[in-house]
Parts: sequence; structure tokens; C-alpha cells
Amino acid sequence: MSTAEQFQQHVLPTYGRFALVPERGEGCHLWDADGKHYYDFCTGIAVCSLGHCHPRLVEAIREQAGKLIHCSNLYQIPLQAELAEEINTHHVRLPGKVFFSNSGAEANDGLIKSARRFGHKRPQEDGSPRYEVLTFLQSFHGRTLGSMSATGQAKIQEGFDPLLPGFRYLPYNDIAALEHAVRPETAAILLEPIQGEGGINSATPEFLRAVAALCKKHDLLLLIDEVQAGFGRCGDAMAWRMIAPEVEPDGISWAKGMGGGVPIGSFWLSDRAIDADGTALSSLMGPGSHGSTYGGNPLVCAASLAVLKEIREQNLASHAIRMETRIRETILSWKLPVITEIRGSGLLLGVALDPALIPTPEGKTPALVVVSKLMELGLLVPPAGPNTIRLLPPLNVSADEIDAALAILRKGLNAI
Ligand SMILES: *Cc1c(COP(=O)(O)O)cnc(C)c1O
Repeated sequence: MSTAEQFQQHVLPTYGRFALVPERGEGCHLWDADGKHYYDFCTGIAVCSLGHCHPRLVEAIREQAGKLIHCSNLYQIPLQAELAEEINTHHVRLPGKVFFSNSGAEANDGLIKSARRFGHKRPQEDGSPRYEVLTFLQSFHGRTLGSMSATGQAKIQEGFDPLLPGFRYLPYNDIAALEHAVRPETAAILLEPIQGEGGINSATPEFLRAVAALCKKHDLLLLIDEVQAGFGRCGDAMAWRMIAPEVEPDGISWAKGMGGGVPIGSFWLSDRAIDADGTALSSLMGPGSHGSTYGGNPLVCAASLAVLKEIREQNLASHAIRMETRIRETILSWKLPVITEIRGSGLLLGVALDPALIPTPEGKTPALVVVSKLMELGLLVPPAGPNTIRLLPPLNVSADEIDAALAILRKGLNAI
């Protein structure tokens, strides 16, 4: 039985999968089961931030696997504490506390639960709790019931109603729409600094500042979803700092790139006081309020610690900016009419395509046509919405590797 047949018979068909069978990887290079070589600018959707099988990550996993893979959060886990300190001290650089989950959706669920707790502690005038979280159209926050309800895309929610109540979606980058958005029950605003799945749309500095100001004015939590954008990918440890460095979030979620491929996510809550008694926001999630059996176990924390230290010590965020410049300059020099725009920051880039110039068969999007062509030519990239392809190379990608991958992109677009 072929792998495809085995899938068909035994795995729920939730994904439309390509026939490609990845077998082995090294850095941004990937080989399939037939030995064909690819430049991997998909990296498991911004997960393998150090590329495939980075020696430091492999060694950290190997060493920890031989020592202790898992133990319960009933006990002390030194690597979890060390990872939280690394995140707070070197990446967020604001006083706060971390909870470890296994994915981005769970991390966002944690933020949503925190917003509800906050809304109980800081209720409406009549004493009833605030609970509403404002999010944005074209956002993506995950697939759990909570994070899916937070996601401002009908296609993600189709057939799953009733959704979790307490979300409203506003147009992204629309400062005027913020003005009348807040209601008595509103407790928080959750947004991606750069929308990933929604097509690589960056928040403007003015918009991010306006959101932060609105949160201050109405006593709302400012929650930032850095699941795809965080930990160096956008050119700073935190993507929101690339956009408006003076903004101070109340909560942040991460996953994808922080583990380099092991399943780990996390959310962070600020230590800031939320009332006159000096109650810290982070204290609202006290003993018994939240949990995860696997969350932050020794194995994933050892891996994530290796990844985050490598990103920091090698200054890969700055490298991402240099590589972004190279990518933008190269692509612009081609003057191809099919490329209408390059969006994003660092190595979270979207190449927007003119759908009128791409022959697209029924049931496919222009982005998928291009993705398939590039795969055939040996370059892996994911789509982002119907008309945009994403470039998500590892953060340590070299200039030569960028040049080789872009040559394939050019060849593929010319062939189409
Ligand atoms: C991928 C993603 C999520 C969901 O993460 P999972 O690990 O798939 O649950 C949430 N938010 C953003 C911005 C993402 O890109």
C-alpha cells in the first residue's frame, strides 16, 4: 500500500496534501524519498527557525532524551524555569511570566482565558464580568474552539457553530473603525503584528499605537499573537518591536519557531498592576487556573532553549533583516509584472501575485499554481491566502542559498 493510500484509509482527510514525501533535511535543504533536492523556504511553516537538524538543537534533544524526557508539572522542572528566564530577560525584556503549552492555538486559548479572568477582576459598572475580545478580519489564531472563534475568517469556522461567544472582528489597520468598537463588555484586543495565514499583512505603526492607546483608555488587555512572527523571524526578537517599539503588550503568545520543530508553545502575561491594590496581571492565573500535561516538559524546553540561545547569540534577527533586503532587491530588479508587491518583515515575507497573469484551473488558487510549479523545480514555499506566496527560509539561511532559491522562483514565474 502506498503512503497516499494508507493516508486515505486511516487518516482523517483534514489536509489537502501534496504528494511530496520529505525524508531528510539539513539547514534549508530537504530531500524527498526519491532523493530529489529542494530548497525549503517553507520550514514547516516558520517552525524550523534554525533549519533542519541544526547540530545544536539535535545535540540538546539527544542529551535530554537520554536523561529525562518528561515529568509532571507537579514537580520542579529546571529547564522550564531557565527557558522562561531566557524569554523574559532576552526576548520580551519586560517583567512578566510565562506558561508553556504545546501549540499556538493552545497559547491563544491561554490568552483568551486570561482576558476572561481579567474581565472578572475588572468588571463592568454593574458588576457583571467583561468578557469580549476584539480581533481582526483575516486574522488566524488557531483551530481549537477558542482560538478558532477568535479567528476572523468565516472559512475556518464553517460548520462549527455555535462558536465560543465573546468575539468581534474589526477591519485590520483601520484606525477609524477602532473608535466606536469598545463596548461595556469588552475586555481585550488580540492581534497579530503581521498577519501570516491571512496573506502577510503588517500592522502599520500608527495602527498598533492606536490599538495600544485604546487599550489604555478603556482598561483593556493588549494581547499580541507572535505565534508565527516571534523570536527573530521579523528582524527583532519580538515582531511588534519592529513596528512600534514603545508599545508594551499585556499578553503575548508564541509557538512555531520557538521550538525549531519540537511541539512547544507558550503565552506570557505582564507583571503590571491592574488595580490600585497593585494586583499583578500575571497573578490572575494562579494555582489550578490552567494546565497542560505535556506543557514545558524537559525535552521540549531543552530544545527550545537551544533554539532561542542560538537565535540570540548568532544575532539571527539582524541576519534576517539583511536577508530581507537581499530578497527585496533581487526580486524588484527582475521587474516582473506578475509580482505586484512584497509584504512583511525580516524572513516573514509575502510575494503578492497578479491573479490575472496566472492561468488558474478550476478549484486552484493562483498561489497554489505557483507553489506547485516551484515544487516541481525544487523550491518549497507555502501559500498565504489565494494570491500570495510566502518566503519563510530558516533564520540562518545564507546569501548563496537565498540567491539559488530566488533563481528558481524567477524561473518558475517565467514558466507560468
Ligand atoms: C499557526 C498559527 C497559530 C496556530 O498555531 P498552532 O500551533 O497550529 O496551533 C496561531 N496564530 C498564528 C498567528 C499562527 O500563525
